[in-house]
Amino acid sequence: MDFSRVLLEKSDAIVERWVKEVYEDQQIPATRELTFKAVRDSLPRVLDALATVLSESQTSDLQTLVDASLEHGVIRAEQGFEPAEIAREYRLLRSVIFSMLEADLLKASPIEMLRAVRLIDTIVDEAIARCFNSYTSGRLQELEQLQNQLKLTNQELTRLVRASKENLSHLAHELKTPLTSIIGYSELFLRQQRQSSTPKDMPTNLEHIDRVLRAGRQLLHLINDTLEISRYEAGKMTLQPVPVEVSSVLEAVQEMVEPLARSKALSLTINATNAPKAVITDPLRLQQIVMNLLSNAIRYTQSGSVHLECRTLSDQHWAIVVSDTGIGISPDEQTRIFEPYVRAISSPEFEQIDGTGLGLAIVSRLVKLLQGEIKLVSQLDAGSTFTVILPIQIM
Ligand code: ADP
Repeated sequence: MDFSRVLLEKSDAIVERWVKEVYEDQQIPATRELTFKAVRDSLPRVLDALATVLSESQTSDLQTLVDASLEHGVIRAEQGFEPAEIAREYRLLRSVIFSMLEADLLKASPIEMLRAVRLIDTIVDEAIARCFNSYTSGRLQELEQLQNQLKLTNQELTRLVRASKENLSHLAHELKTPLTSIIGYSELFLRQQRQSSTPKDMPTNLEHIDRVLRAGRQLLHLINDTLEISRYEAGKMTLQPVPVEVSSVLEAVQEMVEPLARSKALSLTINATNAPKAVITDPLRLQQIVMNLLSNAIRYTQSGSVHLECRTLSDQHWAIVVSDTGIGISPDEQTRIFEPYVRAISSPEFEQIDGTGLGLAIVSRLVKLLQGEIKLVSQLDAGSTFTVILPIQIM
């Protein structure tokens, strides 16, 4: 009996039943997104190829089956089938073939039947193996394409970010000149009015100019901070390492922040006794770090104290520890606050504290530049401690 002919004769009926079973099978959810035709597409070729291989005269034609199964695997990969769904699809195919050929198989001699069953099993297994091979390489190709696409998108995004950063720092530069003259003229005007024995302007007008001056200074602060971050990110921030006396840097900062602490009736203490005798670093950058941390500690503390302490940790490292009894920072915000423009004001009463969200972003970048690291321990409503660990001599 020629089972290949029988298989070919019944191929339409087999395909129809097979597609119906695959379509209705709960374990092949990928078909829910597809049309009947899309599920059907490559199967007739697979069946034709099975029939060709089955026919005794053309056993060398295994290549047709291989090609058909490879094609089927690629299509299924494109259709988003999972490997388990393909395995299930072939299992259904095998059972449909056997049930459609059952009557014919029973008519054959036992030897013919055994040969046909074995052959069908072998070639369906072969078809599955080939199909999986091409399915896997199809998926890999898809992933490679996706990866290439992601790479391109990433490059484009990086270009856009760089362009917008350049625009931002260009804009900041442009704003600086008119702003400096607004601040300069307001200062001059106020000074003249206050020095004059007969001020020409009403006190309310002077108050307005004073507000312009304060807002202008705040804006200039924001612009300078933005430019500082851009400079760091463009790799343009350079260091001028020299021997530094830590206590004189701290004294200079103390002088600047003391009025603010006094205005809030906070106790401000600075202890440099345990600082290393000689440090080689960039004094301006060091001053910027301490200034930012101390002014934050004072601004975010309503009552209590702010304390700065120096420690010598080893032959190579020393630390500056700034602690306060202020509002504290929640664990979720503790890493975010080192990113630019992030503020972590937990309660509305602190919203009026002026800020840009750039201070700590600058501090963390400066600490990195000085080859150090910064650590934070904080508890909401209890206070914060920022520890900056620095090398005694930067390389
Ligand atoms: P700014 O103070 O200008 O908002 P910073 O980058 O210096 O920006 O700080 C980011 C945020 O971290 C602040 O808005 C504040 O929420 C929080 N923060 C910084 N220092 C302290 C501190 N000592 N205590 C409590 N919160 C702080």
